[in-house]
Amino acid sequence: MHILLPGPTPIPVQVQQAMLTPMSDHRGSPFQSVQNEVLKRLADLFSAPSPAHIAVLPATGTGGLEAAVQNFFEPGDRVLAVQTGLFGQRFADVAQAHGIEVERLSFPWGSAFDVNVVMERAKGTRGILVTHNETSTGVENPLAELAEKFSGNNPRPLVIVDSISGVPALPLAVGHGIDVIVAASQKGFMCPPGLALVVLSDEAREQLKETRKGRFYFDLKPYLDGRLPYTPAISLWYGLKAALTLLDEEGSTARLARHRFLRDMTRTVAAAGGLELMVQDRWASPTVTALGLPDHLSPLELRRRLEARGLQIAGGLGPWHDRGIRIGHVGALDAIEVAGGLALLALEMPRPADALMALKSLEG
Ligand SMILES: *Cc1c(COP(=O)(O)O)cnc(C)c1O
Repeated sequence: MHILLPGPTPIPVQVQQAMLTPMSDHRGSPFQSVQNEVLKRLADLFSAPSPAHIAVLPATGTGGLEAAVQNFFEPGDRVLAVQTGLFGQRFADVAQAHGIEVERLSFPWGSAFDVNVVMERAKGTRGILVTHNETSTGVENPLAELAEKFSGNNPRPLVIVDSISGVPALPLAVGHGIDVIVAASQKGFMCPPGLALVVLSDEAREQLKETRKGRFYFDLKPYLDGRLPYTPAISLWYGLKAALTLLDEEGSTARLARHRFLRDMTRTVAAAGGLELMVQDRWASPTVTALGLPDHLSPLELRRRLEARGLQIAGGLGPWHDRGIRIGHVGALDAIEVAGGLALLALEMPRPADALMALKSLEG
């Protein structure tokens, strides 16, 4: 099966092979060196002050969001949740489930957040929860702009970012206005699902010293001391180590350029073939694209036909569920793989020939 999904994403063969490494004691020296290398490479990738600012948890991304909420807030704390789609809503739901007083600030489906409005509403809150790349709509939010406004601004709310479908396809550094970044293994990190990454700024790490109730499994403190309090997902760590090597080899500038090219290819072909681009160019995410189908095409039927030919794409979410699809172009994918999937999709579009010829316009 070929997949153009915003997670899980294809696993490179180097990662797949690394995960076959036999088990050994996770407190013994072979695993210790894997742990050290992974944490060091992650610290570099996120520009974190040290490996002791990174926790790798055995959980999916949502577990990382829950860990962030549990470790930094207590019931009754006021927090601003910025919602630009389904995943922003879920982050707010996680906080609400923990008794946090969540103020929800929603922006229209398909648009990015407005930095000035966020700044205004964030006043007097203990923290803000934001989504870097909203996977349900295919919007990249102006996170750098927000971070710049908060940077050096003291006291200020703790800025906690869900970048599960953003980093490392979209470069993101902790610090300078961003206090906590949550990422996961199964999207741009090219690994199977099962590891959540929680990355802390110096300020965030300092705040963890306060004792708080209501956390146990996800207490970040032992992780930040370099300990693994419970059995780690050993095979996934081996996979992540191999993936980080590949990510380093490519470099973040080339990686961002590759993802932008895959996005542009997707949008160009879809628009030429008669599908609707649900997000304006200026907000279009480099990792996932939401497309609207004409009335006569049912998303479910379309996806079933593609799957029968060996290609899986994602369905629309929320208000776009009944008329939309999403194409993931994130992780270990190159132009030929994405073009192949788009060609199959083009055959189902209102103007197949125009869609296929649009591929030609993308040649260098
Ligand atoms: C995929 C995703 C999640 C959910 O992650 P799980 O690994 O399924 O728990 C959360 N937020 C965003 C932005 C995502 O793309």
